[in-house]
Amino acid sequence: MTSTDVRSVIATARRIVVKIGSSSLTRDGGGLDSHRIERLVDSIAARRLSGSQVVVVSSGAIATGFPQLGLSKRPRDLTTQQASASVGQGLLLARYTEAFNRHGFTVGQVLLTADDMTRRSHYRNAQRTLNRLLEMGAIPLVNENDTVATAEIRVGDNDRLAALVAQLIHADALLLLSDVDGLYDGPPAQGGSRLIVEVLGDDDLLNVRIGGIGSAGVGLGGMTTKVDAARIASMAGIPTLIARFDSAGDALSHANVGTVFHATGRRTRTRLLWLAHASTPMGQVHLDSGAVQAVVGKRASLLPAGITHVAGSFMAGDPVDVVDASGQVIARGLVNYDAQELPGLLGRSTRDLSRELGREYEREVIHRDDLILLPLVP
Ligand code: GLU
Repeated sequence: MTSTDVRSVIATARRIVVKIGSSSLTRDGGGLDSHRIERLVDSIAARRLSGSQVVVVSSGAIATGFPQLGLSKRPRDLTTQQASASVGQGLLLARYTEAFNRHGFTVGQVLLTADDMTRRSHYRNAQRTLNRLLEMGAIPLVNENDTVATAEIRVGDNDRLAALVAQLIHADALLLLSDVDGLYDGPPAQGGSRLIVEVLGDDDLLNVRIGGIGSAGVGLGGMTTKVDAARIASMAGIPTLIARFDSAGDALSHANVGTVFHATGRRTRTRLLWLAHASTPMGQVHLDSGAVQAVVGKRASLLPAGITHVAGSFMAGDPVDVVDASGQVIARGLVNYDAQELPGLLGRSTRDLSRELGREYEREVIHRDDLILLPLVP
C-alpha cells in the first residue's frame, strides 16, 4: 500500500476513532473554548453524514474543571486533578452534546479505566455499549474515568486510551489530533526538521528525535504518547493519522494532511492489549526455564510448580510481570493469588496443593487467557 492508499482507507473508514487533546479545546489558563469544540464538531458531523461511525475520545476534563474550582493553573496532585476532572467532565459533555445536537446527533458518555478493561466482563460490557451506541446512530464520547483512576490503574494519557478504544471496537482507522502538523524528524520549532509523511513500521522511527513536543501546560500527551498510540493501533491492524487540530476537517474528509502510520499487524480483538499497554504491574513472578518453555513455547497457563520466587505486593486479580531467569520480562498476566499467599505454594503441583489445601488451590497462578506474551511484535 502507498501512503495515498492508506490515506484513502482512513478517509473512507466506516468506523473511526477521533482523539482530541486538552490543549486543542481549552484556553491557556484552562476553561473550555466553545468555539473550537463547535468547529471540531462541524467536521465530525460532516464525516458522520457521509456514513461513517465516529467515536470521540476527548481530553479536557481536568483543564476545563480547574478554573471553576478557583485554581489558576492545572493542579499537580492526583486528587485535585480528580476533583477538577469531576467538575470539568460534566461541562465537557454538555458542550459536546450541545454542539452535536445542532447537527441532529446524540452523544453518549463512556468513562473507562484500564483496570476495568483488563477484566473480561467489563471489557465485553464496554464493547457492547459502544457498539450499541454506534448502531443506534449516537456518538460515543469517551474519556478516562479520572475521578476513580488512581496512579496505578490509570491509562494516564488519552492517546493510548484512544488506540485501545479503536482496538476494542474494531475501528478501521484512528485519528489523533495534535497541536503540531504531525510527526517531525526533529523538534518542529528547530529549523531543518521535516514532517514525516508516512511511517511504514518501527524502522522509520529509528532516527526520529521526539522529546518535548506538545503542550505540557494543560494536557498530558505530547508526540511521544501519540507515536506510542499510533504503534499500538497499527500493530492491531488499524491505520492511524496524526494531524493538527486545525486541520481536522481535512483529516476527516480526505486525510491528505499529517503523518500516516500504516497498519503493521493483524486485527485483534483481545482485551489483553489493555493489559500489555495500559496496566501497571504490581509485582513480578520469576520462572524457571521449564515454566518459561511451557508459557512461551506451549502457551500454557502458569502453575505454581515453575515459579522460583515472587516480588512486589500484589493482590489476586492484579497485573504482574512474568520474568525469566535472566530477569527479562516475557509476559504480563492477571495473577490469581496474593503476593503473601503465593510463596507458600511455589514448586508444588496443583494436585498436591488441592489435596492438602482444598479444591480452590487447583487453579493456575495465571490462566493462559489472562496472559499476554511480551514484547509484542507486529
Ligand atoms: N483524562 C484527562 C482529562 O480529560 C486527560 C488525559 C490526557 O490529557 O491525555 O483531562
